[in-house]
Amino acid sequence: MKIIIAILLIIVVLITAWFYAENIKLEKQVTKQQGELDVSAKYIKQLNKKIAEDHNLVSSSKTNEEKIRALMDTYLKEQNKDVYVDSGKTIQYDEQRRFLPDIIPVKGDFAISQRFSEKHPAWDFAAATGTEVVAVAAGEILSVYYDEHYGNVIIIDHLNEYATLYAHLATIFFESKNTVEKGETIALVGNTGNSSAPHLHYEIMFDGKNVDPKEYIDVKK
Ligand SMILES: [Zn+2]
Repeated sequence: MKIIIAILLIIVVLITAWFYAENIKLEKQVTKQQGELDVSAKYIKQLNKKIAEDHNLVSSSKTNEEKIRALMDTYLKEQNKDVYVDSGKTIQYDEQRRFLPDIIPVKGDFAISQRFSEKHPAWDFAAATGTEVVAVAAGEILSVYYDEHYGNVIIIDHLNEYATLYAHLATIFFESKNTVEKGETIALVGNTGNSSAPHLHYEIMFDGKNVDPKEYIDVKK
């Protein structure tokens, strides 16, 4: 009987020891896997951080590009230059055209009320009083004066062989010797001098002689 009890006790002790050993083995395995999981989680965290950083970098560089383009557009518009920005790639600036009288001298609605002839070496642009008159090319104001027939007059020297004259003006914003840019507003349409209705009397002179504006501007009115 004692022997049987002793054998049973030994069996119980062995089974307990075996369970204990297995338990330790399992715990070790769990700890190891937990460690691996921690490393993976850390790695994923780092990757997420990197992705977020890259995303920020991409969106901020896009924003910067848009800002730069907007700034350039504003700058160029302010300068009244014959320039455009196309997808930030093409910038055209025609230095030759800057001094050529090839744009319409009024900014707004108009109708040509009289064209070029020997007796009238100019074009008349009928437009509402106060319509903006622009410098058709860059240059220097040659003179600003009042004439009984032409009313308020401004003449611009385009520093090549060209000069332009604008008459019957209501208001003139510049004085002699001032410089102007192509497209810059220089005066307002009026009815001063010998004029029966508000209009701009516009002359182009080349080498001191009046030339027909039709050679320089395309007006389908
Ligand atoms: Zn006229």
